[in-house]
Amino acid sequence: MKKVIISLDNHKSEVYVGLNWNEVRNFIPASGCVIITDDNVYKIYGKLFPDFPVISIKPGEDSKNIGTIVTLAEKLLDEGIDRTGFILGIGGGVVCDITGFLASIYMRGINFGFISTTLLSQVDASVGGKNAVNIGKIKNILGCFRQPRFVICDPDLLLTLPDDEYLSGLGELVKMGLILDYNLFEKIENNIALLMSKDADLLESLISDSVELKASVVREDEKEISGKRMILNFGHTFGHVIETVASMKHGFAVAAGMVIASGISEKLGLIGLEEFQRIKSLLEKLNLLKKYSLDDNYFQEMLLKDKKKQGSLISFVLLQSPGRAVVRKMTVYEIMNLYRSIKKQV
Ligand code: ADP
Ligand code: ZN
Repeated sequence: MKKVIISLDNHKSEVYVGLNWNEVRNFIPASGCVIITDDNVYKIYGKLFPDFPVISIKPGEDSKNIGTIVTLAEKLLDEGIDRTGFILGIGGGVVCDITGFLASIYMRGINFGFISTTLLSQVDASVGGKNAVNIGKIKNILGCFRQPRFVICDPDLLLTLPDDEYLSGLGELVKMGLILDYNLFEKIENNIALLMSKDADLLESLISDSVELKASVVREDEKEISGKRMILNFGHTFGHVIETVASMKHGFAVAAGMVIASGISEKLGLIGLEEFQRIKSLLEKLNLLKKYSLDDNYFQEMLLKDKKKQGSLISFVLLQSPGRAVVRKMTVYEIMNLYRSIKKQV
């Protein structure tokens, strides 16, 4: 088991990787707790939940809207939850986002914690204190920064995860290696068979690495002010467009976006051709590269609408080498010209 502490100005968040999730009883108050989960997770694990009222939402991204928040807040009122109350989210990224946002605004903020049940949320989403809901198709428009008291990442929970959800999480895991840690990238490369069989020890070690890396970025730039946190967007500029248009799961779309961003890095002379091929080959071996077809002009149109754009510039994340990211401010037209020149290789 590994404990990672994220201490920020006046609050502290603790992430436990490899802890049996039943231990959660040691982290929550004896009364005044409500559990939020989704129907799939509840069906599989509900019987083993701590003995508190459970509110279960419909699984999937569509639940991440302000209507859900209002309905849940009404249920918290019905349960008599006051400012001393506690919300425990048990689920993947969707449940964690909803729990974190609701807890942050309910009675101006009450404490909350997560048991993170998907690989994607264990390696990335549940760590770092970003909580948000969507407006229609526009993601994470209403949200806030607020850290959970604790996050429990128990790899055993991943044994019931559908295969494509598991693979999707691997996309973000590879991302963490590529932007911050060559050793993590290599560890993934050297252990593909074990990784595909969800080997518990390997997963614990990889998730710990990823959480540790994410924590180091969050400690430096909790609220995306200095720009350090931007490197976490590697593969996401193109990835978000692909995710929306080709309706791929997040990690697959990010994998496609990482191939493009790596291709552009190669074109700019930052990484070598061999390195580019090595990255692409790893993503292929992990079954992360799905076919998609997208019109260049549509890509361009969507990038012009990118909500992270500052004026005419996008902070585009590139690779200096596997394990080291750099952010470059580029116009959409520069990015698109580079994309067109490498399109055949990606
Ligand atoms: P993400 O973490 O990728 O943002 P979600 O929260 O939408 O994703 O979860 C992805 C899907 O996996 C949902 O349908 C959810 O109900 C289901 N799910 C989450 N955790 C588990 C688990 N441990 N076992 C089985 N299914 C799960
Ligand atoms: Zn992501």
